[in-house]
Amino acid sequence: MLHPFSVLHTTIISASDENYKEAVQAAVPLLRAGEVVALPTETVYGLAGNAFDEAAVAKIFGAKERPSFDPLIVHVATRADLARVAIIPEEIQNTVDKLLNAFWPGPLTIVLPKHPDIPDLVTSGLDTVAVRQSAGKIFRAIGKELGSPLAAPSANRFGRISPTSAHAVMRELEGRIPLIVDGGACSEGLESTIIHVKAGEKRPTITILRPGPVTKEMLQNFGKVERPKRSSDGEGMTAPGMLPSHYAPRTPLLLLADPSDFRPEPGKKYGLLSYTGEPGKGYVSLHRWSAVEALSPGNGKLPEAALRLFHLLRKLDEAELDFIVAEPVSEVGLGVAIMDRLRRAAATV
Ligand code: AMP
Ligand code: MG
Repeated sequence: MLHPFSVLHTTIISASDENYKEAVQAAVPLLRAGEVVALPTETVYGLAGNAFDEAAVAKIFGAKERPSFDPLIVHVATRADLARVAIIPEEIQNTVDKLLNAFWPGPLTIVLPKHPDIPDLVTSGLDTVAVRQSAGKIFRAIGKELGSPLAAPSANRFGRISPTSAHAVMRELEGRIPLIVDGGACSEGLESTIIHVKAGEKRPTITILRPGPVTKEMLQNFGKVERPKRSSDGEGMTAPGMLPSHYAPRTPLLLLADPSDFRPEPGKKYGLLSYTGEPGKGYVSLHRWSAVEALSPGNGKLPEAALRLFHLLRKLDEAELDFIVAEPVSEVGLGVAIMDRLRRAAATV
């Protein structure tokens, strides 16, 4: 079968927050010509294309093999650019301003009514658009120089683990895109929090469509925070395109809530994704693991675990195991987003 993308030579160019001129010079002409390029952000690497150029947006879907029902996030380089992408309803203007003052640039995506200039392909036909201003300096410099907002989902093939390094993007998209800007490891390591804001009688309601680095606790000052209703299987869609199975390694992943439930099949190789890697907590000493990786060695810190999650999942996925066993983390603060990703990595549907 023919793939919807042509085989390209993929170049990697290095950049840093202090020195990104060359990367801008390499990326912007490609974006102007309607190409797509992989760029670092503080959350994960994104596959960026001009959000106003429908053909470029189609290339993003093609390179990722992403189904057209899964809408993209649009990234603005400046706060002023928000008006080119979305229309903010008056009744939530004040709350949106406060949220953006607090969290932009940063890992917060907000769903707003869409500006007519944004092609329907970007939003999968929805009349809303998801918008964010990344804190990534290289990313914003490229957006600013281009002068257009960038549509940029994570730079992985659909359903797979999000890339947190240029090397990981190469593993996912080599031959499908012309350029990867290597800005080093991402500082958050998890995709942005996605919210929707509704005016309320006393306080606005903030619905978390996808948990992420901006936590429920951090949003509570701005309104009543809720998670969307779950469907009967307990893990329903929280935002369009957010399928139960996502962020998944190729190796089957078992999220083991209780270590005493572990029943290894004889002759199979198991690797453990531990929280702290400490023996004596029930998981490390449970089995003769073929590999053990710790999300936050020693004391267990959730920000460190978030940062290392996708990197370690990818590492275990490449270790030729039959199964990956993941230990749960406590579901508070950033732990909510980590458990969301682990559940989706474990789902097989
Ligand atoms: P990604 O950029 O791959 O990390 O994922 C983008 C996600 O943002 C999609 O999978 C949707 O779940 C969510 N999203 C994008 N646009 C909208 C929208 N208009 N309304 C609600 N969620 C959205
Ligand atoms: Mg993604």
